Amino acid sequence: MTVIIDCVAIGEEIMEEIVKETEELKAKGITPGIATLLVGDDFGSKMYRGQVEKFCEEAGFNYINETHPADTTEEEVIRIVQKLNDDPNVSGILPLRPFPEQISDSAVINSIDVKKDIDCFHPFNMGKLALGEETFPPATPAACIEILERYARNEEKMDPKDFFEGAEIVVVGHSNIVGKPCAYLSVNRNATVTVTHVFTSMKGNLEQHTKGADILIVAAGRPDLIGPEQVKEGAIVIDVGINRVKVLDEKGEPVLNEKGKPKTKTVGDVSFDAVKDMTKAISPVPKGVGSVTNRMLMKNALKACKMINGLL
Ligand code: NAD
Repeated sequence: MTVIIDCVAIGEEIMEEIVKETEELKAKGITPGIATLLVGDDFGSKMYRGQVEKFCEEAGFNYINETHPADTTEEEVIRIVQKLNDDPNVSGILPLRPFPEQISDSAVINSIDVKKDIDCFHPFNMGKLALGEETFPPATPAACIEILERYARNEEKMDPKDFFEGAEIVVVGHSNIVGKPCAYLSVNRNATVTVTHVFTSMKGNLEQHTKGADILIVAAGRPDLIGPEQVKEGAIVIDVGINRVKVLDEKGEPVLNEKGKPKTKTVGDVSFDAVKDMTKAISPVPKGVGSVTNRMLMKNALKACKMINGLL
């Protein structure tokens, strides 16, 4: 029987652990805090800012909202980062990108105190991750690993260490925020890791790799990229992709909503219905990896807070 991994429950479990640890810290007079830094009014960034604020409230963290007009200069933004670096109420700094074009991403990221870089944007922390010294594993790949670790413990009754060691893990996608760090986190756990990407597909070689995966982690942003022919019977599949697609009727025509516009839905990169029965376990979309991602960010902020206060 296939296990449909309950990522929502995993997310809630992690949040409970965070709340408990936060209460213990507060009893010592210490409160973790996250600052978001938004320049301009990008819609996606504002949505993300709202989520971070909500999670901070839920966990009992301080939340610091730095929102500045789109014409703010790079020098001003760096001054704001330095102020946050020095603020004892801030354990983690989260720059919300894209920035307006006069601001260089790397100039801002390089100015963040590495001890407050909770989503592992800074090259120093990415370098540590590559060296196997995971200080702040980036939230989305960390969520994939956390889901697999909890799956190993709860469903396979296995020590996660044994679960990862020697496992054939294939990652689809090689972005700096998901695919590559996912590969580092996996190889750091002694898995045998293959990284595939758009050029693998262009050479017609994707299937030959994915078909060998015990654990297949897909982060490409391409709906239906992975169907039954790309998956080994009994594999564990983690679908990171988030795609908005039109809802189609049985003739393949778009279904319209009450306003006469095509209805849409969120899907992953894996053809869930076609693949699920051949897998040992699979994470769904929606209510999948995304339900754990923000919690991993909170976990990193908690860790940063402990490090800053000499508790780690
Ligand atoms: P990206 O666009 O930066 O990278 C996409 C990667 O997929 C690239 O490495 C590219 O080479 C690869 N790719 C594209 N087409 C491919 C193909 N046909 N075959 C094989 N590989 C292909 O995207 P990203 O930021 O890494 O995000 C990937 C997906 O994960 C997106 O759908 C994004 O929305 C989603 N995402 C989800 C979460 C979450 O919490 N669930 C968080 C971040 C991103």
